[in-house]
Amino acid sequence: MLTNYVYKLRPNVSQSEKMDNWVDMLRSHYNWCLNDRITQYNQQFIQGDYCDIRTKAEACPISCFVSKNGATGEPWKDGKLDKEGNLKNPRRSAGDIQITSLPMLKQARPWYADIDSTVLQQNVKRLDVAYKNFFEGRGFPQFKNRSNFTSFTYTVGIKVQGNKIYLPKIGWMRFHNSRLIPDGFTIKAVTVRKRQDGWYISVRIEDKSVPDYISKPLTEVEKVIGCDLGITKLVHLSDGHQIDNPKFATNKKTKHLLKVRQRRVSRKVKGSKNRKKVAKKVGRLHKRISDKRLAYQWYVANKIVSRNVDAIGLENLNVAGMLRRCKVKVDEKTGRFLKNGQSRKKGLNRSISDASWSELTSKIEYLAAKQGKVVIKVNPKHSSQECRNCKHIDAANREGEKFICVRCGHMDHADLGAAKTIRDRTLSLVREDFAKPSASTSKSSEGTVKRPKQRKETSARSMSKRVEPGNPSDRDIKAAMS
Ligand SMILES: [Zn+2]
Repeated sequence: MLTNYVYKLRPNVSQSEKMDNWVDMLRSHYNWCLNDRITQYNQQFIQGDYCDIRTKAEACPISCFVSKNGATGEPWKDGKLDKEGNLKNPRRSAGDIQITSLPMLKQARPWYADIDSTVLQQNVKRLDVAYKNFFEGRGFPQFKNRSNFTSFTYTVGIKVQGNKIYLPKIGWMRFHNSRLIPDGFTIKAVTVRKRQDGWYISVRIEDKSVPDYISKPLTEVEKVIGCDLGITKLVHLSDGHQIDNPKFATNKKTKHLLKVRQRRVSRKVKGSKNRKKVAKKVGRLHKRISDKRLAYQWYVANKIVSRNVDAIGLENLNVAGMLRRCKVKVDEKTGRFLKNGQSRKKGLNRSISDASWSELTSKIEYLAAKQGKVVIKVNPKHSSQECRNCKHIDAANREGEKFICVRCGHMDHADLGAAKTIRDRTLSLVREDFAKPSASTSKSSEGTVKRPKQRKETSARSMSKRVEPGNPSDRDIKAAMS
């Protein structure tokens, strides 16, 4: 099993200065490598004859700085023949080339020799990961600035003794040993990261003898709970419980505090020390908010997963799509911009990001796997507009928390109804999964064909015992939060 433990570091002044320097140097190295790969690509595949698009210098093997030092510098690996006498994988990848040119970097810029060599290698590999993500359809690698490049990674040479850790080329450093690394686990990598209130390490540990957490197979699922994620209440469960949303960043008090602190920053002279000081305070407030949210999400995820169920039905939400800006509206005659509702939507967007449903979902998934349960994601389309009595779908069915069907007059709590709908959809998904294998083996699998029916009964029984909202355990949640 592979997991990460995070600790807070206690560097002394010189160590923390050194790490600051390293991060700056590594960031510029990262940006240099990225620029190198982009230039290289442009030269080879777009510009043809030209070496550099700015100078329009013609490419030739002697004058071209790109092909001499760049990502095609030494494209061929030496040695390593296989049994038939052919070179094995003779071509180097861009990452390999940039790693082999690291000694040249240290010659040209001797201050880079201060940095541990594996850290530099990992820095290039970080760019490799960014490119891999790009080729898998995510965005193109970004040039990094001080705010989005704050870490570096070690893979070898780390020692831990009590509350001290040895980081090569930095030395022994104290840290808050808040959580003991279990016996049998070995350290695979250590990432040092700067956050608003100091330095942290994330220690990647592995023990191959410990099996990974495995979710329950769908064939063993009997009891299901449905969750409807929202903003007025963070979660509505299909058994009637609801979990509050404390709105850590968007409640009135915090919003005011953020506004005041942010204003203090904007009134200081740009580039001044005073501005830096107050900006740090804003950063710390943001950190405190996110820490609170993190703790609460683990609490909520535990609360949901520890129910007596086998599977948890969640909505398959497209949060990025929900956060997208409204389309621009332009008056065709005058060419002026018209109101498009974005300013009205801004507050909602903030509430959505504050609730951070996808983070919560991933925590639920992790804990579910840990406890041998399974998370099933279902399509949430119209889950809160569909009548549970007559299946009529209409936006007019719903008004705030009230649900009144315009066709049959069925009344319900809107979010609770949505949670139940999600539970039903999850159940039908599980049943479909059952039906598939039984259809292929017709007679012998009578038992499995019947099983879905049995489960339907059991689930119906378990649902009939459900508790109505406002029960004691709901109060427990509130009490725990206050
Ligand atoms: Zn109805």
